[in-house]
Amino acid sequence: MDIYLKNTATGAKERFAPLDDGNVRMYVCGPTVYDRAHLGNARPVVVFDVLYRLLRHVYGETSVTYVRNFTDVDDKINARATETGRAIGDITNETIGWFHDDMDALGALRPTHAPRATRYIPQMVAMIEGLMAKGHAYAAEGHVLFDVGSDPTYGSLSGRSVDDMIAGARVEVAPYKKNPMDFVLWKPSTRDLPGWDSPWGRGRPGWHIECSAMAADLLGETFDIHGGGNDLMFPHHENEIAQSRCCGHGFAQVWLHNEMLQVEGKKMSKSLGNFFTVRDLLDQGVPGEVIRFVFLSTHYRKPMDWTIEKSVEAELRLHGFIERIALSGDISKAKGLPIEEEVLIALADDLNTHAALEVLLRMNGSEDANRLARHLVFFGFFDWEELEDRVSRHLKAVSDLSNFADELAKVRNLAMETKDFSEVDRLKALMSDAGIEVRMSKTTVELVPGPDFDPAKLEALK
Ligand code: AMP
Ligand code: ZN
Repeated sequence: MDIYLKNTATGAKERFAPLDDGNVRMYVCGPTVYDRAHLGNARPVVVFDVLYRLLRHVYGETSVTYVRNFTDVDDKINARATETGRAIGDITNETIGWFHDDMDALGALRPTHAPRATRYIPQMVAMIEGLMAKGHAYAAEGHVLFDVGSDPTYGSLSGRSVDDMIAGARVEVAPYKKNPMDFVLWKPSTRDLPGWDSPWGRGRPGWHIECSAMAADLLGETFDIHGGGNDLMFPHHENEIAQSRCCGHGFAQVWLHNEMLQVEGKKMSKSLGNFFTVRDLLDQGVPGEVIRFVFLSTHYRKPMDWTIEKSVEAELRLHGFIERIALSGDISKAKGLPIEEEVLIALADDLNTHAALEVLLRMNGSEDANRLARHLVFFGFFDWEELEDRVSRHLKAVSDLSNFADELAKVRNLAMETKDFSEVDRLKALMSDAGIEVRMSKTTVELVPGPDFDPAKLEALK
């Protein structure tokens, strides 16, 4: 099966041809760890998780190596430590734990490697020394800077000239820079800041070098795919390319960038008050698979708008899927089913998740609930165990509801004799609180779970 990906570096949709079919290699820039991941941070995680799953499907589960780093040395982390009086290691460890928990909840598989930048300082120092030896970097006032003028292809990814880049970006002007575009590979640390001994004194790496060093160490000097958000294209990815190529590395063959996430049509920002974390949503009761569904409904290269409306709709859809599988599926049979050609073709077309979801929705209307179950797992909405758990909870809720309906019918019949309906009213109110609509006729009592129905609340009624 051929996969086509739109390569940012060439601007073309290209047939993906891995350097080694037996070890397809992908690097994605991960978070800087000083706070909970906001919803936007989750977008590249979900997008590249879908690609990871597709690659594993096509090339084999053990034939894909996926690296996503943690930036655990950064001035924002230092600032957070100063503000809170906490140790940097505590902050980064806690945040990394949170990140894993939150992304697990979105159904993202853990990458093969999730390296922390601070474990790769010697590799970074060696790379910087190599760049200096080749005349691509220079030391000045305790800093080491990459000499952009020494790299004639600098800017090739975003296709901009150095002058345009200077105009478009906030470049830090410093007296020790030969060119304002030159960027920091290494900088000095005062005693109160994290630092490592180096040929240029005690200091710490600039941001960009970590990805070049970790990618080379874990994937090799030349690898297949490099991904991240659009916002990283310049300067971060340009700088990664410059560092690695000037070391003689082939670096990434294909570059993929996801567009940004917005909220209700607006940029997500703290000042607009529409800023929230993945954990905020999970805590509000929005299940991880619902977030994933909403994300996948928009192509990764389009801006993605998070809206309450979409989230409610996704929840209904997913609920419908579970209902259908509970009604007529058999998970043990579903496990062995193949992935539909149409789904694979959509995903292989530059990750057209929107079209792939359409196939899933059509499947829900078809006869075979097992196919639906197989694909829910392939898309990463659930793993098999979670799906089994959802289905059995659904079945239990259905049987509980029918028991409650019998109970309510008895109480109602009694009330018709005594003319005291207070117990009937009390039970009806409880049902309605649990998101259940009570339909009573003269002879029947029917309990219909509404969109807000929560089986856990039903438990509480017992
Ligand atoms: P950061 O921790 O800010 O470096 O971001 C980690 C990852 O999240 C990077 O791949 C960013 O491109 C991505 N990212 C940050 N904000 C957004 C957003 N609003 N929408 C989509 N991706 C984002
Ligand atoms: Zn990076």
